[in-house]
Amino acid sequence: MTTTKKKMSLTTSIFISLVLGVLAGLAFQGNADFTVKYIKPFGTVYLNLIKMIVVPVVLFSIIQGIISLQDIRKVGSIGVKTIAFYLCTTAVAVTVGLTFANILNVGAGYVLPTGELVYEAKEAPSFIDTLVNIFPSNAVTPLANATMLQVIVIAVFFGFGIIVAEEKGKAAADFVESMAEVSFKIMGMIIKLSAIGVFALICPVVAQNGPEVLLPLLKVILVAYAGYIIHMVVVYSATVKALAGMSPVKFFKGMSRPMMFAFSSASSVGVLPFNMEATEKLGVRKEVSSFILPLGATINMDGTAIYQGVCAVFIAQIFGLDLGLTQQLTIILTATLASIGTAGVPGSGMIMLAMVLQSVGLPVEGIALVAGIDRILDMGRTVVNITGDAACTICIDAVDKKRNAK
Ligand code: ASP
Repeated sequence: MTTTKKKMSLTTSIFISLVLGVLAGLAFQGNADFTVKYIKPFGTVYLNLIKMIVVPVVLFSIIQGIISLQDIRKVGSIGVKTIAFYLCTTAVAVTVGLTFANILNVGAGYVLPTGELVYEAKEAPSFIDTLVNIFPSNAVTPLANATMLQVIVIAVFFGFGIIVAEEKGKAAADFVESMAEVSFKIMGMIIKLSAIGVFALICPVVAQNGPEVLLPLLKVILVAYAGYIIHMVVVYSATVKALAGMSPVKFFKGMSRPMMFAFSSASSVGVLPFNMEATEKLGVRKEVSSFILPLGATINMDGTAIYQGVCAVFIAQIFGLDLGLTQQLTIILTATLASIGTAGVPGSGMIMLAMVLQSVGLPVEGIALVAGIDRILDMGRTVVNITGDAACTICIDAVDKKRNAK
């Protein structure tokens, strides 16, 4: 009882600091530099601490998850289902983005600013490179650089190795179990600082994005958020209800803390600890969540996919280009694949947008137009990204439990 009370109060305190952060940001709008200089650093420290603990958490929890599933075939079957779920929902998400942007005519009424558009597109990796890069040539560097897909591959191999080594792997299994617990405890300490972190993260964002930046692009923001909300309400409610028999209200209520944190931090990977805690409270077994969620935080980005669909149509419309059916199908394919390569950190979806635009010959410079509001779009898409990870985790866990019962 007391613990529930305590946890409730953390959620409430995060919510209050989110609201206070927004209000303070509004108050500081004429003086954004102050917030960047003196408030943002606290947010950065907080985010740094989370990033610091994320690699050990992901590494040890995935290895531990695999060991506790015990059977390589079982890991394989859960893995295949998980990836299929992730890819399908992402494809639906891009479609939602494209549909909303087309129907609501997202580019209508926008006047191209005079002057040159400059956007230095960072090279987005090709699909084959993305695949090849998943496999590290070194078992330490990915940990140091927090290259999450590679960390996952390392964890999967070590997990399998420990299972196959049987008796001789016992010491390694015990070590992993202990380290996983220690990493989770450290994470718990960092989470206690959330109220300060959330305030310090959101305040400068609001202060910097005054009405001059937001108003001309208000329609893009509204269309993207409409897509985010509809996708969550329809797709996730339907899947958790159909596959796990869970009421959508219970699902979204249980997810409130990770969702709020995603909104203020714009980092899926940073939300991981909250998401694990929330899904476990919603009844998911730890060995399942510790395997599916880190994978999702790395490869599953439904919100990013919606954003890319909306931006592609926006850029096409304001440049007066027509997107035919084939091109829109290409966007669905590339945006789904791009979501695998999108890192769960702020702003990475915008870099991958270049790849999507290029795939259908849209001008990459168009990104410059939406770059100014990227943070605002990023906050919403990260909420969708992590909610999708949780929905998948809950569904796969329920399906597996049913199978075991049989
Ligand atoms: N910030 C997003 C995330 O962490 C990724 C993106 O930029 O789209 O999920």
